[in-house]
Amino acid sequence: MIEKLTIIGIGLVGGSLARALRAANYVHEVTGHGRSVGNLQLAVELGVIDRVEVSLADAVRHADMIVLALPVGCMGEIFKQLAPVLADQAVVTDVGSVKGSVIEEARAALGKRFAHFVPGHPLAGTEQSGVGSSQADLFRERRVILTPETGTDADAVERVRAMWEAAGAQTQTLSAADHDRILAASSHLPHMLAYCLMDMVVRNDDHRAIIECAAGGFRDTTRIAASDPAMWRDICLANRDALLAVMRQYHADLGALTEAIEKGDGDWLMETFNRAKHARDALNKKL
Ligand code: NAP
Repeated sequence: MIEKLTIIGIGLVGGSLARALRAANYVHEVTGHGRSVGNLQLAVELGVIDRVEVSLADAVRHADMIVLALPVGCMGEIFKQLAPVLADQAVVTDVGSVKGSVIEEARAALGKRFAHFVPGHPLAGTEQSGVGSSQADLFRERRVILTPETGTDADAVERVRAMWEAAGAQTQTLSAADHDRILAASSHLPHMLAYCLMDMVVRNDDHRAIIECAAGGFRDTTRIAASDPAMWRDICLANRDALLAVMRQYHADLGALTEAIEKGDGDWLMETFNRAKHARDALNKKL
């Protein structure tokens, strides 16, 4: 049980975690801190958090668990502000979609308190943003990846693991490098493709006719292009190397596909589409 939980950034993910832990009676008090007081007040009105603290020092005082649920580009500054006001009993974790860059910023800012920082990433979310979209069941039966470093306090890892399990999730441990390489392919690349496709279509002279004729395929492929641009700018820049590697691979594969169509190579198309269809059919059973 968490006595005092402080969430910094009460949006979709931070708000959903607060809701899930409250629904599970796993937390006594939830304090919110963030950027706009209006959105934090909305979180109080919605019953997501108990109180708002405008000062970060007041927000984390006596907290036993502190969760950073902000875009990854804002975390470095928050770690610097947290360092002088962190109490000994506090465990710090985050929900950022990139782990390597967040870990380096935490290491640089937190000093010996870095041992009580447990990096995390819930593999759950939607293209919506803000506390108004938060849901108590967002993490139910979803996976949360923890990427503790050598020297991360084992008890702190256990407390973060227990928190996510109380929220309904299953936890898994990976190295930060493995996390960032795998997520570049499974999440970051698909978002790049969706943004690129949607932007290409909207700049086409025929865009009105294209959108009017769009059906399920277009809707499914572009759904995540409605995700928050600032959040995705930060993810691209924070996971630049791993993302560029899979983007270059995709670019080469798209080149091979273009060439096969140019040459009228139906055998190549059948082989490639069959391989992809079998893989996607198998995935349907898991999703
Ligand atoms: P969100 O709904 O937009 O919430 C972000 C929160 O951060 C808001 O409370 C926002 O404050 C605050 N914030 C934004 N910019 C800030 C700044 N410059 N300084 C201080 N606070 C700032 O986003 P989210 O979807 O919950 O994402 C939060 C984190 O979760 C990100 O690191 C993301 O990578 C990660 N994540 C997202 C998903 C997903 O599917 N969305 C899934 C897994 C992990 P305001 O209320 O003032 O806007």
